[in-house]
Amino acid sequence: MPSADLVILGGGSGGYACALRASELGMSVILIDKDKLGGTCLHRGCIPTKALLHAAEVADSSRESAHFGVNTTLHGIDMVKVNEYRDGVVGKLYKGLQGLVKSRNVTYVEGAGRLVSPNTVEVNGEQYTGTNVVLATGSYARSLPGLDIDGRVMTSDQALNLDYVPKRVIVLGGGVIGVEFASVWRSFGSQVTIIEALPNLVPNEDIACSKALERAYRKRGINLSLGVRFASATQDENGVLVTLEDGKTFDADILLVAVGRGPNASGMGFEEQGIAMERGWVLVDERQRTNIANVFAVGDITPGLQLAHRGFQHGIFVAEEIAGLNPVVIPDINIPKVTYCEPEVASVGLNEAEARALHGDANVTAYEYNLGGNGKSQILGTAGFIKLVQLKDGPVIGVHMVGSRVGEQIGEAQLIVNWEAHPEDVATLIHAHPTQNEAMGEAHLALAGKPLHAHA
Ligand SMILES: Cc1cc2nc3c(=O)[nH]c(=O)nc-3n(C[C@H](O)[C@H](O)[C@H](O)COP(=O)(O)OP(=O)(O)OC[C@H]3O[C@@H](n4cnc5c(N)ncnc54)[C@H](O)[C@@H]3O)c2cc1C
Repeated sequence: MPSADLVILGGGSGGYACALRASELGMSVILIDKDKLGGTCLHRGCIPTKALLHAAEVADSSRESAHFGVNTTLHGIDMVKVNEYRDGVVGKLYKGLQGLVKSRNVTYVEGAGRLVSPNTVEVNGEQYTGTNVVLATGSYARSLPGLDIDGRVMTSDQALNLDYVPKRVIVLGGGVIGVEFASVWRSFGSQVTIIEALPNLVPNEDIACSKALERAYRKRGINLSLGVRFASATQDENGVLVTLEDGKTFDADILLVAVGRGPNASGMGFEEQGIAMERGWVLVDERQRTNIANVFAVGDITPGLQLAHRGFQHGIFVAEEIAGLNPVVIPDINIPKVTYCEPEVASVGLNEAEARALHGDANVTAYEYNLGGNGKSQILGTAGFIKLVQLKDGPVIGVHMVGSRVGEQIGEAQLIVNWEAHPEDVATLIHAHPTQNEAMGEAHLALAGKPLHAHA
């Protein structure tokens, strides 16, 4: 029976990061995946969607180039070529990752695994035993009761494989995946309607960011239906018809169902082995341990943010925990989030409402620096802001941004929040001119009581 220090079930962001770090720390590792190494992020998530968003940005630049005195004509979008470009990016990264796993002496096993004892995973009739086991089987795209994924009704998995630009699209769900696809299709020339049951787009963000995104989307000609729940959908050879609970109807060529992702944790022996679960999620403590000794879980199968870099961090954390390095726990709230639509939304830490609820109104200060005062943002022609949430006379506990390319600012933002920097600490540092990053400096200058390109 093959055995190792660590057996990892699932080779996505969480699983492979754990494998790489564990082997770096001298452990023997068996990594099992039934599909392609790299998981959702590399093959059906982050990377392919961001490639599409880049192609969308190129389309927007071509369409709007005359504004900059550069005359071009956008002849159309060749989705076959766009997909080739996207697949080229994914293929290169996939090859690199395979090489990396091989070079670190990780034993990679292809096949569907099942937990048959707390320290054994069975794959293709063979049993693999680990001193420790890590569950990292990820998530799947959910639908709603009575809404079958079929034909014109699709999730992001099928939408990524379209070889044409649909003329009219309905996106059900105004969360991250929904608004990113809406952004791509609008840039490619589709008529897009987003239907969201909650009153705002990207409802997990600071309300100011949600409202700014809604304004920008309306300006881009994206139709929004907010605050009314979906009732039903029907389809035939001509299109799909969506009815809301208030009786309003919308029709389109396709319906993208982007209503969230559920844990992929059933039917693999977890329940039988006594792993504690709740509504399908694998429960873990803050050190990623399940209730069973020596069984850990990482990434999207655990409740919380569903982000690739959270999976990486979980994977690294577990390898270091097993090695006795006592790694530092990063709470979900301090994990950076970026929504890569146009304009981008990026945040880390508590939003203003959360901060006021947690610390009390009197103890929280919020400040918004408008990108209108930022030279580089004016050059790019983007609107938006950087909003800081501060504990009164204390550290910055939240950074919330909207605007083209603001996702690039999240690196500094997450250092500020995680290092509990005070506005005065950041205000003394220098931000290069002219960059959008200056807006980060300006916001902190203002909160420190010495605004430069802003009114006091
Ligand atoms: C459209 C889309 C866009 C996204 N964009 C972003 C983004 O821009 N940034 C970001 O941070 N996150 C993004 N995400 C989320 C990100 O992809 C996930 O958070 C991340 O992939 C989770 O990693 P994971 O390791 O938990 O699971 P996964 O990446 O899903 O990996 C799980 C792996 O387990 C394997 N597996 C499952 N069951 C078995 C079994 N029984 N036996 C063997 N193997 C098994 C699967 O084949 C898979 O490879 C996006 C997701 C989607 C769908």
